[in-house]
Amino acid sequence: MEFDLIERIRRHTDVARDDVALGIGDDAAVVAVPAGRELAIAVDTLVEGVHFPKGTAAADIGWKALAVNLSDLAAMGATPAWALLALTLPAAEEPFIDGLARGFAELATPYRLALIGGDTTRGPLTITVTVHGFTTPGQALLRSGARVGDAVMVTGTLGDAAAGLRCLAEADPAPYAALVERLNRPTPRVAAGQALRGIATACVDVSDGLVADLGHICTRSGVGAEIDPALLPRSSAMLTHFHDADAIDFALAGGDDYELCFTVPADKASEVAADLARVGCGATRIGRIVEGAGVRVLDGAGGARVPRRAGWNHFA
Ligand code: ADP
Ligand code: MG
Repeated sequence: MEFDLIERIRRHTDVARDDVALGIGDDAAVVAVPAGRELAIAVDTLVEGVHFPKGTAAADIGWKALAVNLSDLAAMGATPAWALLALTLPAAEEPFIDGLARGFAELATPYRLALIGGDTTRGPLTITVTVHGFTTPGQALLRSGARVGDAVMVTGTLGDAAAGLRCLAEADPAPYAALVERLNRPTPRVAAGQALRGIATACVDVSDGLVADLGHICTRSGVGAEIDPALLPRSSAMLTHFHDADAIDFALAGGDDYELCFTVPADKASEVAADLARVGCGATRIGRIVEGAGVRVLDGAGGARVPRRAGWNHFA
């Protein structure tokens, strides 16, 4: 039975790569790291009811489980190569497995990312993906390089996923499909991360909320940041369905965005925005790095405001 499930997953996710000497089927996978490259490795878990609502489509779960991991590789400027998939399932339902594997493969295949192994167990629905990507020694984008005077920028738009989650509670969520899509099918900014190599001084992906994740750059870099909420990039769907105050709250602290927040020398900001427009997501300058510690959200009147919602913290 378990073999049958694994075989189903393998069939959906069949990407051939020369650097995979041994994929699914043995006790461990065997792979070759190309000469002169380093491995960037990340793991993230999705738990039903915590990271996605009960009732989320299997294909969306499969997509998102990989997307949140590719987002971590994107934030390092790494090139995706291989993944492991650890599945805990309440029951061996074949349509569910097929859907999950299909959603996973939809995102994996364009990156030529090979699923090289995993584990399958019974229990409450939990999906853990480990991804491996390649970086050039010394070129990975870190959280620790932001300098006073740098511009703070973000890719894409912020707050959509959190707004989408709110909309799922509506009697008819259909008008909010664009926002719900951003919740269920986040786009990891892999090409943007690669374009930022050698240019960004620090980078993080926005999973817990902008203020929380930019806070990680501040902590690791020993600096502070000021952001202007009026500059936060908001989607047309957000502007259509939400008032400014809610949109700003979602953008500051909603989380689940999987955009990149990064810093660049201020004189590079417009050039970087043009580069990232070319890779499809664009980038917006939202503030600057300052002396001190922590993230200040400016109120437009020379003061700072405290965000109404804090970032996501599982143990808060
Ligand atoms: P073992 O008992 O040695 O851990 P398993 O029966 O768990 O072996 O796995 C057999 C093979 O199937 C291994 O190559 C493993 O990596 C792969 N595998 C198991 N579960 C999954 C999964 N959910 N997705 C991809 N590969 C899997
Ligand atoms: Mg096993």
